[in-house]
Amino acid sequence: MTNPVLTIVVPCYNEEAVLPDTIHQLNGLLEGMLGDDLVSDKSKILFVDDGSRDRTWQIIYKQSLNNPKVRGLKLAKNAGHQNALLAGLTAAGKVSDCTVSIDADLQDDIAVIREFILKFREGYDIVYGVRKKRDRDTFFKRNTAQGFYKIMKKMGVDLIYNHADFRLMSKRALEELQRYEETNLFLRGIVPLLGFKTANVYYDRKERLAGETKYPLKKMLAFSFEGITSFSVTPIRMVLALGIGSFCISFLFGLYFLGLRYFGETETGWTSLITSIWMLGGLQLTAIGLVGEYIGKIYKETKRRPKFSIEIDAFNLPISRHLIT
Ligand code: UDP
Ligand code: MG
Repeated sequence: MTNPVLTIVVPCYNEEAVLPDTIHQLNGLLEGMLGDDLVSDKSKILFVDDGSRDRTWQIIYKQSLNNPKVRGLKLAKNAGHQNALLAGLTAAGKVSDCTVSIDADLQDDIAVIREFILKFREGYDIVYGVRKKRDRDTFFKRNTAQGFYKIMKKMGVDLIYNHADFRLMSKRALEELQRYEETNLFLRGIVPLLGFKTANVYYDRKERLAGETKYPLKKMLAFSFEGITSFSVTPIRMVLALGIGSFCISFLFGLYFLGLRYFGETETGWTSLITSIWMLGGLQLTAIGLVGEYIGKIYKETKRRPKFSIEIDAFNLPISRHLIT
C-alpha cells in the first residue's frame, strides 16, 4: 500500500492563545509520521477559522505562507463547531485518503493520531478516539455529559460513549457523510450511522492548553438539545403517551368521582367539572401527540437521509483493495 495522504482538520474559534503551540505540535507530529514513512508527503494540516474575532486567522495565514504543510480556510462568519468541521472535512476529503478531526485546544492526545493511521492502514474506515476516563473534567461537566449519553441512548440514538469529534475518516466514509444533507448537523450521531469497519482507540484527555472553552453551559445545553431533536421523535411520542395515559386515568377518576357523587359526599358540580378537566386534557394531549406523529414523519422525510450505502462494489469491477482486506 502506498502511504495515505492525511489531512488533519482543526476548527478554530478565537483560539489565538493556543494556536501557535497547536501548530507547532501538530507540525512536529506530521514530520514524525513522515519520517516513519506512515503517511504521504502530500499530507497537510488544515485550520478552519470559524469567523474568529481575534488574531486566529492572521496566525493561520502567516503560518501557511511559511510552511506548505499548514493550510487555512476562513469562514465568512461564525458557523459553529460542527459546521466549521464539516467545511474543513469537505475541503480535505477531495484531496486526502483520510482525514483526522481534532479540536484546536489539543485536549485530545495527538500521539494517538499515529494509532489512527495504523488502523486505517489495516483497513478501518472510521477510527474513534475514545476517552478512557473523564477525571480532568469538572464534576459538573462529567455528570451532565454522562446524563446526556444516557438520554440519547434512551431516545434510540447510537452514540459512541465518551467520544467527541476526535476521529479518523476514510475518503469513502466522508463521501457517505456528504450524502447526509441535513442542516442541523450533529456529527457524533451521524458518523455511527454510516456503517463501515470501525475501531476505537483509547486515550487520556488533558486540560485545555490555553484560552477558554467555547462551550459554556448555555451552548452545551443547546448542543444537547440539538442532538436530541435532530435525531429522535421520542419526545413527541412521550406527549402522545401522556395524552393517552391521562385520558385513561380520566375514566378511572370519572368512575371514582361518580361513586363519590352517588354513594359518598361531594360539592355540587365538582364531579362533572373534575372529570371533564381530566378528559379534555387527555384528549387535547392525545390530539397534539397525534399531530406530532405526522410532523415527526415530515421531519424524517425532510432529512432525506440515504437509505443505503455501498461498502464493496464488485458489480462494477475493478475490485478495490477493500475486497481483499
Ligand atoms: N469551535 C468552533 N466554532 C465555535 C465554537 C468552537 O470552531 O463556534 C471550535 C473550538 O475552537 C475548538 C473546538 O471547536 O477547536 C471545541 O471547542 P472547545 O474546546 O471550546 O469545547 P470543549 O472542549 O470545552 O467542549
Ligand atoms: Mg476543548
